[in-house]
Amino acid sequence: MIQNYLTVDVEDYYQVSAFEPLVGMAKWDQHPSRVIRNTRTILDALSRHGATATFFVLGWTAERNPGLVKQIMQDGHHIACHSYGHRLIYTLSTNEFREDAHRAKDVLEQITGMPVIGYRAPSYSITEQSLWAYDILEELSFTYSSSVFPIHHDRYGIPDAPRFRYQVPGHAMTEYPLSTCRLFGRNIPVSGGGYFRIFPYWFTKMALSRINKAEHQPFVFFIHPWETDPQQPRMKGASLLSRFRHYTNLSKTAQRFEKLLNQFQFIPIPERQDNLVS
Ligand SMILES: [Zn+2]
Repeated sequence: MIQNYLTVDVEDYYQVSAFEPLVGMAKWDQHPSRVIRNTRTILDALSRHGATATFFVLGWTAERNPGLVKQIMQDGHHIACHSYGHRLIYTLSTNEFREDAHRAKDVLEQITGMPVIGYRAPSYSITEQSLWAYDILEELSFTYSSSVFPIHHDRYGIPDAPRFRYQVPGHAMTEYPLSTCRLFGRNIPVSGGGYFRIFPYWFTKMALSRINKAEHQPFVFFIHPWETDPQQPRMKGASLLSRFRHYTNLSKTAQRFEKLLNQFQFIPIPERQDNLVS
């Protein structure tokens, strides 16, 4: 059975990019935090199924919840970096990006006492416009990233990027793109988040099985702790599209996630990239 890569983006419900115009970082502290409770839901599910994962933790959140980061490690999972302030990379200058990534890495390494070498961009915001981010990630000693979605989307995507693990051209870094399945000549996102909540489970299962069985490749799956929390406070003023993407099927996600853990095997993204053909 193929071992797939499970990833968890540890952030709170008010920190997502869709709500950024409503709740900038300066206002995050005004919202009741539910990240500890919701991350526990994920940790409990993983331990029931003997699955392990990479947790990409937001620096801002780690700084306020060091015990949570330690708990994740104690449970046998890997800690990686999801930026400090969840700002879209293509909206930043190179210096702003460097500062943000460096700050997050520092916070996480202080807590874990270990090098943090994996990076996931907020909202997959490594696009054609922000490929310079790899220069800076490499400068900061990150060795892998899982930040590219090979699809068309209004907020992210490099539609013609490779669909499976690749070496970033001109770099030593490895990129683990978020998984898609090929349907009608297009890449369809099927690997987690809103797609996991919105598509019926049978479709997700079929698409992910196809990646394993027909393409003989592992897939990269992602979930956010807030996606298991139907009781989270509702964000006032969000657009209809953002509300649809954020709130659809929250009450079904925990159960669906258990099914997924039952039907597929999961491990963290490998921290050594030595068997990669460039
Ligand atoms: Zn995020």
